[in-house]
Amino acid sequence: MLDTTSMYNNLGISEEVYEYGKKIEQTLLERFAEIDRVAEYNQLKVLHAMQECRVNEGCFHYASGYGYNDRGRDVLEEVYAKTFHTEAALVRPQITCGTHALALALSANLRPGDELLSPAGKPYDTLEEVIGIRKSKGSLAEYGISYRQVDLLEDGTFDYENIRKAVNEKTKLVTIQRSKGYQTRPSFSVKQIGELIAFVKEIKPEVIVMVDNCYGEFVETIEPSDVGADMIVGSLIKNPGGGLAPIGGYIAGTEECVENCAYRLTSPGLGKEVGASLGVMQSFFQGFFLAPTVVAGALKGAIFAANIYERLGFPVIPNGVESRHDIIQAVTLGSPERVIAFCKGIQAAAPVDSYVSPEPWAMPGYDSDVIMAAGAFVQGSSIELSADGPIKPPYAVYFQGGLTWAHAKLGILRSLEELVRRGLVILPE
Ligand SMILES: *Cc1c(COP(=O)(O)O)cnc(C)c1O
Repeated sequence: MLDTTSMYNNLGISEEVYEYGKKIEQTLLERFAEIDRVAEYNQLKVLHAMQECRVNEGCFHYASGYGYNDRGRDVLEEVYAKTFHTEAALVRPQITCGTHALALALSANLRPGDELLSPAGKPYDTLEEVIGIRKSKGSLAEYGISYRQVDLLEDGTFDYENIRKAVNEKTKLVTIQRSKGYQTRPSFSVKQIGELIAFVKEIKPEVIVMVDNCYGEFVETIEPSDVGADMIVGSLIKNPGGGLAPIGGYIAGTEECVENCAYRLTSPGLGKEVGASLGVMQSFFQGFFLAPTVVAGALKGAIFAANIYERLGFPVIPNGVESRHDIIQAVTLGSPERVIAFCKGIQAAAPVDSYVSPEPWAMPGYDSDVIMAAGAFVQGSSIELSADGPIKPPYAVYFQGGLTWAHAKLGILRSLEELVRRGLVILPE
């Protein structure tokens, strides 16, 4: 039998890199134990919801056509609602991605003449077109919905004074993004989000608060729906799909908000009653069941990467010791060669497409070439180990996911190996 070092060697990791990683890992055991405690708590939360909702084998049956009385779909929505402590949920394969879920939640709950407020700065890139910040066909702006934004203060905190001024008689819905996404601001804790929600609701109690929960699910023991959010929204090819959901999005929230979303997703008059689940239900249930553990593995990977690269002198966000509110890790590598080497390393460690070599290309919607590494079972899934980096200063890579901690660890070591081999990083003695 081969020893562990030789197994790593078979996967392209030199002894030098393996030993360096081992030293870093030793310093993280206490944090990893805390992550496991959060995962344990969240596992119990999901399990309890599944038992209370009496999930049974019938929930996994294939439903086609209109999908009337699709029991699996209806029970799954109950499970999401129970887990997130909301009145209702809409969890569907017909919601194609996170952006779609967010666009749905917004367009379903806003009417012409209403105003949308983002009190925590610029929302995720793809929402600029949804809202109409960037001119786009079918945007909220085209339907007469206005938009107002209050930027964060210099130190990344909320600008309460200007938020107070921004809330007006037209303000109908407030959108808050939990994860920094691909910005450099910090991600918000659920507690911080709760404080912001309380502040806004004190000014205007009837306002609807939506939280973009992408990348945040199960990172903490509470979710934004526990601190006053009327809707939380996310993608099933991120955290809550647990790596098994092949598609989908969710909206969990008040009966009224979710009902509006259902009528918008299908049709007025039809709402939640239609939308066949087409055989994906087992993966939705099972993925949700695994999600707390999968998120824990991804978090360990992010913290491991932060500590590996921070100690080699590269700026990392979040830093090696900060508390975590999402699974994204940014590492500023400072040169295009390093960004490319990092991504090639992540790709080489993948279970799928490990033999292909990613190259920078001009992706639509970006203002520079971008390199992406992903060897995923589900196309574009970013709960699976993936990395991408725009080829422009400051030459940062954004790294996330890993269905298991062991795979995340291998990927990070393989990225480091690639940098060391090319002489782009020198390991300390
Ligand atoms: C991923 C993401 C989205 C959009 O999700 P897609 O599935 O890529 O459309 C929106 N907001 C945040 C914060 C995200 O991380």
